Amino acid sequence: MEKRAELYEGKAKKVFLTDDPELLIVEYKDDATAFNGLKKGVIAGKGVINNKMSNLLMQMLENVGIPTHFVRELSDRETLVKRVDIVPLEVIIRNYAAGSFSKNYGVEEGVAFDSPTIEFSYKNDPLGDPLLNEHHAIALKLVTPAEIETVKRYAFEINKQLKALWAECGVTLVDFKVEFGKQANGAIILADEISPDTCRLWDSKTGEKLDKDRFRRDLGGVEDAYAEVMKRLLEKI
Ligand code: UDP
Repeated sequence: MEKRAELYEGKAKKVFLTDDPELLIVEYKDDATAFNGLKKGVIAGKGVINNKMSNLLMQMLENVGIPTHFVRELSDRETLVKRVDIVPLEVIIRNYAAGSFSKNYGVEEGVAFDSPTIEFSYKNDPLGDPLLNEHHAIALKLVTPAEIETVKRYAFEINKQLKALWAECGVTLVDFKVEFGKQANGAIILADEISPDTCRLWDSKTGEKLDKDRFRRDLGGVEDAYAEVMKRLLEKI
């Protein structure tokens, strides 16, 4: 697979064209940002871990019927993926209160929900990724009514599968963000990444944070936390 021109550079990844118009190469960086890019840093080795972890989780999800963009891991930091138009929604599922949910609604972090919640933000940097509901997303023509139903169905199924897998690893899946893409044929598939950058992962016994909150909140031990969840996943998958 020939790597061609850079198509896009994001906060944590670069995306390259290939000689196949339907395939792209994603390259994971060690760069980390938080608070809409206001906080910047480097998490040494993060790109290697997020690449591998995201690929393992997407392969597991494919095996249980969730279509994903994953094609093949090319190197420590590079993966071949299907080209999609990203649906400009951040889809967030929560099993426990944390982060912006705790802040917005005045709920202590770690309070369990009887059933998972779903919320959407409009991926739009100038607007600051505002929250919106599914009717807004349809009104803005970000998705069709049928597409948002598919997105919701996949998101809750992804939660069910990931929650069970992380539980086997002694890790509580508190919440996570996923993004979907639309293929040329109209199919909705899981895209972007699933990693400690995009999930809250707490040690099931101690409650220790094993994710990007260690970076956001200057808790230290960021690299060790990423390595720890990767190690636990590799022991189970
Ligand atoms: N998240 C993400 N990218 C974002 C915003 C959130 O990956 O731009 C993830 C975050 O890591 C967490 C979940 O989505 O696992 C819920 O995040 P929340 O809304 O609580 O926002 P935060 O507290 O991270 O600002």
